[in-house]
Amino acid sequence: MATRFVPSDAACPDHPERAAVDICVRCGRFLCQSCVTSRAAKVMCKGCAMRPMVRAEDPFPPLAVALLVMGVLGLVVLPLGWAAGLMGQRQLNRIARGAVTERGEFAYQWARGLGWASLAVTVVMLLAGAWTYWGDGSI
Ligand SMILES: [Zn+2]
Ligand SMILES: [Zn+2]
Repeated sequence: MATRFVPSDAACPDHPERAAVDICVRCGRFLCQSCVTSRAAKVMCKGCAMRPMVRAEDPFPPLAVALLVMGVLGLVVLPLGWAAGLMGQRQLNRIARGAVTERGEFAYQWARGLGWASLAVTVVMLLAGAWTYWGDGSI
C-alpha cells in the first residue's frame, strides 16, 4: 500500500532489479516490497526501523531515563566518593612530606583511586544521559 508518490521507474537500491513500491519516511530511500518494514504504523527501510526513535514518537526512551536517574543519583551519592578521594590524596601528600607515619598508606591509595573513579563514573553517566536525551540517541 503505497501512500507516497513513487516514480514508476524507481528501483530498490538494494535490489536494483525490483521496482520500488514505497519510500522510507525517515531516510527517503526507495523500497521494494521485500524491503518495506513498518514500525509504529510508518513505512521504513530495515536500517531506519532498527534505529531508536527519540524525538517525535518516543520522547522518553527508557535508556535515557535510566542514565539520567543514575547521573542524578551519582551527583547526590558520589560526592562521598570524591571526598574520600580528596582526603586520601591529602593524607598521601602528608605521608610523602613525612608529616605523618605511613600507617594506612595502602587504604589511602585505595580511597584516592575510588574517589577518582566515582568522579569519572559520574561524569560519564551525566554525559551519556544528556547525549541520549538531547542528542539523537544513537550510540
Ligand atoms: Zn530509511
Ligand atoms: Zn529491496
